[in-house]
Amino acid sequence: MKKNLAAGLSRRRLFLAAGTFAAAFIQVRAPVVHATSGSDDFVQPDRATPEAYIERAFELRRQAVDRGDQAYGAAVVKDGKIIGQSQSLVVLDGDPTAHAEMSAIRDAARRVGRSGLRGATLYSSSRPCPMCEVAAFWAGIDGFHFGRGIEAGGAPRLCG
Ligand SMILES: [Zn+2]
Repeated sequence: MKKNLAAGLSRRRLFLAAGTFAAAFIQVRAPVVHATSGSDDFVQPDRATPEAYIERAFELRRQAVDRGDQAYGAAVVKDGKIIGQSQSLVVLDGDPTAHAEMSAIRDAARRVGRSGLRGATLYSSSRPCPMCEVAAFWAGIDGFHFGRGIEAGGAPRLCG
C-alpha cells in the first residue's frame, strides 16, 4: 500500500517534471514560430542613417511581395541599431493584425524586452495605420518615419 503510494507520487513527480520540461521547451521554441518574418538573423546596415533604415523597410517590403504577402515592411531602431524588423505577415501567418509595423514591434520586444523599446524609432515603407501607430505608442516608441521620402510622423499618438 505504502509502496503503491510512493510509486504513485513518483509517477506524479515524473509527470510534473515532464510538463515543466515541455513548457520550457515550448518557451524556447516559441520564437522559431516567427521565423516567417525572415528576421531571425538580420544584419545591421552598413550606415546608421535614416536612409539605411528606410531602405531596410523597403527590402522587407520586397520580401513580402516575393513571399506573397502584402507589400509592407518595417524596422524598429534604437541607439543606431535595428532591434526588430518584419515584412507584413498578414497572409503568411493568417493574422489580420500582423502588419509589418506590428510584427516589427513584436520582433523587437522579443529581442530586447518591453522596456527596451522605449525611445526607439519606427521606420516603415508606408504610413503606419492607426492600429500600428497605437501599438507604437504603447511600446513607448518616440517617433516614426515612413515612405521613400522618410516623412516624419512625429510621436505616435493614442488617438488620431
Ligand atoms: Zn498597421
